[in-house]
Amino acid sequence: MATADLMDKLVSLAKRRGYIFQSSEIYGGTGSVWDYGPLGVELKRNVKDLWWSSMVHQRDDIEGLDAAILMHPRVWEASGHVEGFTDPLVECSNCHRRFRADLPEVADGQCPTCGTRGAFGSPRSFNLMFKTFMGPVEEAAATVYLRPETAQGSYVNFLNVQQAARQKIPFGIAQIGKAFRNEITPGNFIFRTREFEQMEMQFFVEPGTDDQWFEHWKEARMAWHLSLGIRAEKLRFHEHGPDELAHYAKQAFDIEYEYPFGWKEFEGIHNRTDFDLGRHQEYSGKRLEYIEPQSNKRFLPFVIETAVGVDRTMLVCLADSYREEQVEGEERVVLALHPRLAPIKAAVFPLVKKDGLPEKAARLHETLRKASLPSFYDEAGSIGRRYRRQDEAGTPWCVTVDGQSNEDETVTIRDRDTLEQARVAMDKVEGWMRERLNG
Ligand code: ATP
Repeated sequence: MATADLMDKLVSLAKRRGYIFQSSEIYGGTGSVWDYGPLGVELKRNVKDLWWSSMVHQRDDIEGLDAAILMHPRVWEASGHVEGFTDPLVECSNCHRRFRADLPEVADGQCPTCGTRGAFGSPRSFNLMFKTFMGPVEEAAATVYLRPETAQGSYVNFLNVQQAARQKIPFGIAQIGKAFRNEITPGNFIFRTREFEQMEMQFFVEPGTDDQWFEHWKEARMAWHLSLGIRAEKLRFHEHGPDELAHYAKQAFDIEYEYPFGWKEFEGIHNRTDFDLGRHQEYSGKRLEYIEPQSNKRFLPFVIETAVGVDRTMLVCLADSYREEQVEGEERVVLALHPRLAPIKAAVFPLVKKDGLPEKAARLHETLRKASLPSFYDEAGSIGRRYRRQDEAGTPWCVTVDGQSNEDETVTIRDRDTLEQARVAMDKVEGWMRERLNG
């Protein structure tokens, strides 16, 4: 399938099935901002829950935090964002459109929009942070920023969390939350947007143990992506060379995914040294050192960061699971999402609208819903059409109540991927699904 084709198909399936809509669509849309519909919001919650569970619930050494989006403006001076979170920007003197100076076609001197050559002025630095005002006066002193990353909230709360949770180094702080970047060239659907959500974890370690923890987190993060069912051959590491390393980083690896538009960053794992805590200590005048309980040794911990986008994870899950196949002589589109990610776990169908089958199916649907297994009841159209609708939505199991159900209280469960049908007692359906979700 051609690249553009697959992206177009994903965008249209996402809209049709209620995964993702363009923001403010009836007004012509807002640039690179997207809204998540009924299925999208479920997928998003599942992504975040799985990350939170692996980072916070399954470990003793990571604590959760939910810091505010608005922070003291000095935070962004200390972090280097006011000065350095910029992209080089050029403007075409013919059409007045602006571009990142480092785009290959722009570097060649030709405007990608109007085609004029040699019409670019010299590059200017463009800060990617959104600015706004705090309080009732619009003046420079009241300027605040929408955070461009969640990490700084974890650094400024480092001692609060450590002391309140009585953690010892090494330990981590995990956050999920919105971040905003006024990207000059956003695009590729939800790959690069101006408002997005991040799942970031800052792991504080003793200097000297940082390389070993860096290796640990590299491997652990790759394992997490594989646990979502993402194909191994579509994932790889990319090490940042000296010219790519951020000002704060000693070492950085990206986990890259092969998107329909090529290999690009999915997640970043960074050894940020003691840069951030050191800068906050300097700018705030407050000591942020850790004091080791037994030895009373004081030191500024190093930070190993893992940073991944929620939206970008969703794009990977959608792109990786999209298939067009021939089954039973018909073409079908299927989202082969891992059952744990699937927004709807089960669809329940009565085979026909008589003989008490709809009532029986509705009761099963109700039982599954009450057991917190998102379920969908559908009696409209042929059974084949009902299957196709669920295949496209990514529902792993379709449960059909038929004539035999009236005789022996069993139903068939059809597997989305193998198309195999299992005959299961009605009162065992929930357990059958739980086993597969947890397995
Ligand atoms: P790039 O260099 O591509 O702008 P970055 O290296 O600045 O990205 P980080 O600051 O490391 O990205 O952000 C961590 C993660 O947050 C990224 O790996 C990505 O998953 C996500 N992310 C960053 N920017 C965006 C964005 N504009 N839209 C969606 N997700 C984003």
